[in-house]
Amino acid sequence: MELRGTKAPMYVNILKLDTFLCKHLKGDSFNGLWPLARNWKEKMDVGLPSRDRTGVPDFVLLEDYKSTSAFVENLKKRFTSNLIYTYIGEVLISVNPYKQLGIYTSKYLALYRNVNFYELPPHVFAIADQAYRSMRTEGRDQCVLISGESGAGKTEASKKILQYIAANSTHSKEIESVKTRLLNSNPILESFGNAKTNRNDNSSRFGKYMDIQFNYKGAPIGGQIINFLLEKSRVCTQARGNRNFHIFYQLLKGCDKELLKKLKLSRDTDSFFYLNQGQCPEVESLDDEEEYKNTRDALNVCDFSEREQECLWTIVSATLHLGNIGFKQDEQKHAKIKDDKHVAAVAALLECPEDMLRHGLVNRVIHVDGDEVVKPFNKERAIYARDGVAKGIYDRMFTWIVQKLNKSLTNEHEENMSVIGLLDIYGFEIFEYNSFEQFCINYCNEKLQQIFIQLTLKSEQDEYMNEGIEWEPIRYFNNKVICDLIESKPVGIISIMDEECLRPGEPTDETFLDKMSHTIGTHPHYIGHTSKADYYTRKTMRRDQFRLLHYAGEVTYSVKGFLDKNNDQLNRTLKEALTKSKNLIISQCFKPEEITSKKRPETAATQFKTSLANLMEILLDKQPSYVRCVKPNEEKSSKTFDERLVRHQVKYLGLMENLRVRRAGFAYRRPYKAFLARYKCLCPSTWPSYAGVARDGVHLLIKHLEWDEDDYRLGKTKLFIRWPKTLFAAEDALHS
Ligand code: ATP
Ligand code: MG
Repeated sequence: MELRGTKAPMYVNILKLDTFLCKHLKGDSFNGLWPLARNWKEKMDVGLPSRDRTGVPDFVLLEDYKSTSAFVENLKKRFTSNLIYTYIGEVLISVNPYKQLGIYTSKYLALYRNVNFYELPPHVFAIADQAYRSMRTEGRDQCVLISGESGAGKTEASKKILQYIAANSTHSKEIESVKTRLLNSNPILESFGNAKTNRNDNSSRFGKYMDIQFNYKGAPIGGQIINFLLEKSRVCTQARGNRNFHIFYQLLKGCDKELLKKLKLSRDTDSFFYLNQGQCPEVESLDDEEEYKNTRDALNVCDFSEREQECLWTIVSATLHLGNIGFKQDEQKHAKIKDDKHVAAVAALLECPEDMLRHGLVNRVIHVDGDEVVKPFNKERAIYARDGVAKGIYDRMFTWIVQKLNKSLTNEHEENMSVIGLLDIYGFEIFEYNSFEQFCINYCNEKLQQIFIQLTLKSEQDEYMNEGIEWEPIRYFNNKVICDLIESKPVGIISIMDEECLRPGEPTDETFLDKMSHTIGTHPHYIGHTSKADYYTRKTMRRDQFRLLHYAGEVTYSVKGFLDKNNDQLNRTLKEALTKSKNLIISQCFKPEEITSKKRPETAATQFKTSLANLMEILLDKQPSYVRCVKPNEEKSSKTFDERLVRHQVKYLGLMENLRVRRAGFAYRRPYKAFLARYKCLCPSTWPSYAGVARDGVHLLIKHLEWDEDDYRLGKTKLFIRWPKTLFAAEDALHS
């Protein structure tokens, strides 16, 4: 790598630091210690191998910055040197190390505190510090958007940011209690919302946005969590190697005998249908018994009363009993309940009428001309109804937990002045079999990509244009066209699906697919059987499939189950039984108005669309920081760096585009007035005050500082600085 002296001394400093540490490790002497490096040596015992092998800490330094191979190679060098963080300007790329690196200790927490972004090697703490300080100094709400695929390290990154903020924000006694509750909300949500999958032993099966609220002193005084789309199908079915949500195993392994008896449970996870399908009751990295204790402690910290906790356990166990209700079928193909014991257990645990429950599990009541007609289910529909209750109660319990946490995090005494939001949300999913859930998740990622484009790429370019600065427009793919395909009315996929769900007659997944073919079959990002796509492309799809050309790549979806999942309706009799429940939580989750209301509830996709639109509004209002997480391999190994896999992620995280824009642009910009106010003392013509226009004053100042012509541009209202080092030189001059 070549570094031309004047271009990037700040990075040179960081690289010098690498060298220093290498030499230090090898026992070589190192002359002319750079003070920061000495500081480092004193503060940390870090091992960094030879510089040639460590790659560059910021991708803007990459010689061949347009090449994806060079990009991946740099990540690889760093990963193999245990340097998991790299910047693209102010975006942090994080590669999951799959091992403990010892870089989140109190030493590191202290080291990154109040230090300029570029003065230390890249770290998630630097992102946290930058967000916190910008919030304090500029008074602007911040958000950190963390993205990446399953297992890439999003949740870990969000926890590190929270840890940093808890450790480095203002302290006081009341504040400590808020911090503890903020930190304890995580284990609760993870117990109920995370599960073991084939890709991640602790996979978040819901999306999460968390606001941390601060007072004017910069102390955290409260929080607010928004949850998105829990993967509730997991309650009833798990693929091989997967488990249900952690809480089920925790309860069975951890609770005392007395509670176990009260809940009519046994410790044998294999005896429950909702737990034995994945054939994976134990996970090496998880201690369910211990985690049960942690969950209980966290529930106590977050003000869940004894009674509320008991209600949670009854719902969790009722769910397990529901799963064990079997059905047989008579000659007329009418379903009959096989196992009375479990229905009785569910009714007793949920304190709801058993007869209603029984009836609703095997029959549907419909109204014809004012009369009630009972239509018995066949076995398949009865199972569907049973699973519907299980998913319904678990899902609503989860939302109830989030609301309860929000109550515990609400600050009633002080007005919050500003917030930092953390978004930890599922990344793009491309499986062999993609269904409604993947459709929603990928739609969410399209929206986030939109925000990323809007906030970084587009606003970056727009600003140069507005400021009248020469700027070679960068071509980038705007994925709005795909968002529109999904969400626009009346011809977007969601609208078509909703319309089909509401249509009288016999709408099916197939009729929905046909309707899409008719209305959007020619859209350039949609491929159906009637699309204009070439023969080969269509040939690779089954009859029940459609394909979307997402910004991250092609995804083939099967329409099977789309309408049912979108309708997301509980059988009326079952819902009625639940509205009569005496269980504190269930009675809050299923209100009688739901039965009496004539209004049709919103479909799942429309609800999701609305919650995403709200999220976008929340995010657009804030100054964003980005953490882009990358998974190095599929084996959860700390040694393997799978270049093909990483290359794919680099592509769909839009990192190359991000780098191109960053390289083309200016690292810093400052309004003239602010710049002059800070640095006027460096020039006799502007000190102690400058009477003319601020822009002219700045011009005089930088002439006096003899800045290289290429290092800055004078915009209409702001000074643009190409490299951080220029600014640091001015800072150094201030302090010398
Ligand atoms: P999902 O989308 O499935 O929720 P995720 O992106 O949130 O995935 P994490 O749960 O954060 O992934 O990370 C998966 C696992 O990888 C963690 O349980 C941990 O073992 C390991 N891991 C992630 N980040 C780090 C890190 N910075 N240091 C050490 N281990 C890590
Ligand atoms: Mg996660």
